[in-house]
Amino acid sequence: MSGVPGSAPSPDEVLREREADHFHDECGVFAVHGHPEAAHITYLGLYALQHRGQESAGIVSAHAGEHLVMRGMGLVADVFNEARLARLRGRHAVGHVRYSTAGESELRNAQPFCATTDSGPVALAHNGNLVNAARIRHELEGRGAIFSSTSDSEVIVHLLARSREATLEERLVDALSRVRGAYSLVMLTRDGVVAARDPHGFRPLSLGRLDGAFVVASETCALDLIGAEFERDLEPGEMVVLRRGRLRSLRPFPRPSRQSFCVFEHIYFARPDSKLERQSVYEFRKQLGRVLAREHPVEADLVVPVLDSGTCAALGYAEESGIPYETALIRNHYVRRTFIEPAQSIRLFGVKVKHNTVDAIVRGRRVVLVEDSIVRGTTLLKIVSMFRSAGAREVHVRVSSPPTIGPCHYGIDTPTREELIAHVRSVGEIREAIGADSLGYLSLEALRETAASLKHGICDACFSDEYPVPVGEDEGPPQLSLFRIVEQGDE
Ligand code: AMP
Repeated sequence: MSGVPGSAPSPDEVLREREADHFHDECGVFAVHGHPEAAHITYLGLYALQHRGQESAGIVSAHAGEHLVMRGMGLVADVFNEARLARLRGRHAVGHVRYSTAGESELRNAQPFCATTDSGPVALAHNGNLVNAARIRHELEGRGAIFSSTSDSEVIVHLLARSREATLEERLVDALSRVRGAYSLVMLTRDGVVAARDPHGFRPLSLGRLDGAFVVASETCALDLIGAEFERDLEPGEMVVLRRGRLRSLRPFPRPSRQSFCVFEHIYFARPDSKLERQSVYEFRKQLGRVLAREHPVEADLVVPVLDSGTCAALGYAEESGIPYETALIRNHYVRRTFIEPAQSIRLFGVKVKHNTVDAIVRGRRVVLVEDSIVRGTTLLKIVSMFRSAGAREVHVRVSSPPTIGPCHYGIDTPTREELIAHVRSVGEIREAIGADSLGYLSLEALRETAASLKHGICDACFSDEYPVPVGEDEGPPQLSLFRIVEQGDE
């Protein structure tokens, strides 16, 4: 079958535009092979990976040749309960948590994606972004394929279903050899699990053992939660086939000379108790804080982390500078997304619902706020203002990463380039915009030097504008709006 129907010839610009409609998915994946409580363990694993995606959650288990599927919008604890988990029988399971930008937050994009092939059912959970998904999708649609989601991950399922290879794992190899970009994925078959990592190794994927079963997780904190033993990380370009209690490792994809592990996983995204490529996230962040203190020292009375993610770097900054560390910004841990705003706007309401300053510590003092990154600048604008209202004498901001100047095309949710404050403004202008007395970012050189200790190559495209896998020209929210599922209809 060849040729696109007459109505759908697509000029290159349109393709490029769609290519650039990269689907900002931040995700966590988890899989179990060979455990009587596979779905329950997957549920716990997803619980530990909740920080990687809060929009939807899903688990698929394999039982008696069938796949049992449960997906829903919201947090893992909202989607699953005891009764629901009990229905997900079987010794093998895969799970997924997903976050996406608002427009695409819909049930049809919830994973794992399921399909029936002539080799049996498959369910796929994918973390990462594919940079040529729109192009492949366009080709497939031209040949009559019908997509049920707007997520790039579905492209892999289509390619796999159409492959002429004999076994499902060979079909997956065939499918993955056509896609470009980032994937750490787990796939459930009728009686086993396949896990794979793209040749650049952008996103993490770790392998563990639990009571003789195999476990695969985006981050090691999920292995810790279920008491599994960490065995090793999947290598970039590796595919692991778990069947009948055995592990078979394949290396079907040629590897580039160096890895491109997402440095932002180390800086912000991963949980600090995880190890990425065997390196402690906590220690790396703390080290960034120390280096930041050396690069941008300041006379001050206290070092305060901005939000939870700034904690490790703030500790490093405090240790190196000798300035006392104080948690002068307190977080309300119980805020859900649906708080009700008062009709009459209260000053700083949005941010005060979630955070408040400890005025007794702040008043009259010179404060260093340590933040892991600035994206649009909205968080710091509010928080600097809060510290001023609390009576801080000076407010200095230090950021434990370089200016974010480019969007991520490999799986971290970032706004368009124009929305990135560091793309459109200089450091001096950003300082002014957020109202700080001084602002210091970690330099790219210092980040690279510190990351050299990680013993693996990194992708720092969001800070350097050097993209290891070429991407389309432009960015923007996906244009596709096909249908919207309004009911989950499960119970
Ligand atoms: P902004 O307020 O837009 O400058 O965003 C910066 C804040 O968002 C910082 O506190 C970061 O820790 C956090 N942040 C950075 N990147 C992301 C991301 N991809 N998703 C969610 N939060 C992020």
